[in-house]
Amino acid sequence: MQEIRLYNTASREIEPIVPHEPGRITMYTCGPTVYHYAHIGNLRTYIMEDVLEKLLVFAGYDVKRGMNITDVGHLTSDADTGEDKMLAGAKREGKTAMEIARFYTDAFFADCEKLNIKKPEIVIPATSCIDEFIDLIGVLFEKGFAYMSGGNVYFDTSKVDDYYRLTGHSADDLLVGVRDDVTEDENKRSKTDFVLWFTTSKFGEQELRWDSPWGYGYPGWHIECSAISLKYLGEYLDIHCGGVDNIFPHHTNEIAQSEAAIGHKWCSYWFHPRHLNDKSGKMSKSKGGILTVSVLEENGYKPLAYRYFCLQSHYMKQLMFTYESLDNAASAYDKLLSRVAAVKAAAEKENAAPDEERVAEYRARFIETVGNDLNTSLGLTLLYEVLKADLDSATKLAVIEDFDRVLSLDLTSGEPEEEPAAEDTKRLEELLVKRAEAKKAKDWATADAIRDEVKAAGYMIVDTPEGAKLKKL
Ligand code: AMP
Ligand code: ZN
Repeated sequence: MQEIRLYNTASREIEPIVPHEPGRITMYTCGPTVYHYAHIGNLRTYIMEDVLEKLLVFAGYDVKRGMNITDVGHLTSDADTGEDKMLAGAKREGKTAMEIARFYTDAFFADCEKLNIKKPEIVIPATSCIDEFIDLIGVLFEKGFAYMSGGNVYFDTSKVDDYYRLTGHSADDLLVGVRDDVTEDENKRSKTDFVLWFTTSKFGEQELRWDSPWGYGYPGWHIECSAISLKYLGEYLDIHCGGVDNIFPHHTNEIAQSEAAIGHKWCSYWFHPRHLNDKSGKMSKSKGGILTVSVLEENGYKPLAYRYFCLQSHYMKQLMFTYESLDNAASAYDKLLSRVAAVKAAAEKENAAPDEERVAEYRARFIETVGNDLNTSLGLTLLYEVLKADLDSATKLAVIEDFDRVLSLDLTSGEPEEEPAAEDTKRLEELLVKRAEAKKAKDWATADAIRDEVKAAGYMIVDTPEGAKLKKL
């Protein structure tokens, strides 16, 4: 087993991962709220979590990973006063919340498959664990951490020492309810208290409701992750993951209620990939017009070109999405596939066995490199070094196959796109300029004719915010 080091939000340091049980790692991921498609920002987080899991396995750990599917209780406001997102989704599409949940859960895993994101071993929809939530809330009542007010059950954050420990900020910086658009919930004793069980909603009938000792109602969002993680991964969790927006209040509340219930420290490492932004700011499902994997495909990009785009950057840095930078990544990815294809062809010709000692050396270097706070971009640099190295093709191919167990870029099976001949590129680019002029002059007939001409040459024109681009058909 080789050491993996990771930035831990809880300690604000890069630390070696030392699991609670030697050799075995438990890992919990906050799953998607399934009221809409996942956008490529959400998927950046899941890609980085996938790389982390695969790296740990590659380094020799036995990883047990669980994830919830949020299909109830996640409100549009983190201050417990908004509408349930599932209900809003159901209204939007004229369907039931469960129909919406099923549809978008399937869509999420279909996107994950396209991006080579492995499905966690344990995937649990929140609505399948209502008894566990009720039991956990019961324990919190028994231990004096919960109270009823205005029909809802609240967690009493004043009973917790060090409520803000994960964020490292003071109460004043982070109070929920200070945002202008959030109405405060008058039933809370303190602003940071949060709902464990709702029986009231000002947004009409909540379709999904269950009997409980505190009335007919539905669970709050935070309780689901604590209960699911405790049930399936035990009282000592090694790594908890989620996007940076989850640190407060979601993960802060998860820690408060989990530790209140079990009476000891719960989770050792907190992994929070930073956001993907577009020019208008943070990508978000509620903004509308969301950028999905399907949109990328419609625009002629391979989903794995997006995975490559993500791997080029460090997960702790915000990433800016533009079609121009995706183009660069897509072209680099295609060139990489071509180079690997050449190695593969040479290895087949050589028909020799790889040098296992060299393969093991590179494996150790890869784990050390990427294992230093998930440095995927240096992992890619090491891959390029292998391509240039003075090694026989069989060994090169074996090393590349090995790295790809973590990178998951289909390096040895992906089809590189053919590069257009230089004279074709020039002609096609001239046509793009003429089309832009025709569009400006509102000469739609000429613009359409140019599109057809480009199509006949084997390309489609994709209009992006940064202008028209050519994609191979
Ligand atoms: P949700 O489906 O909204 O519950 O979010 C699913 C995951 O995506 C969570 O881990 C969020 O923290 C994460 N997330 C949300 N927005 C972004 C973004 N713009 N970039 C990266 N991750 C995000
Ligand atoms: Zn969660």
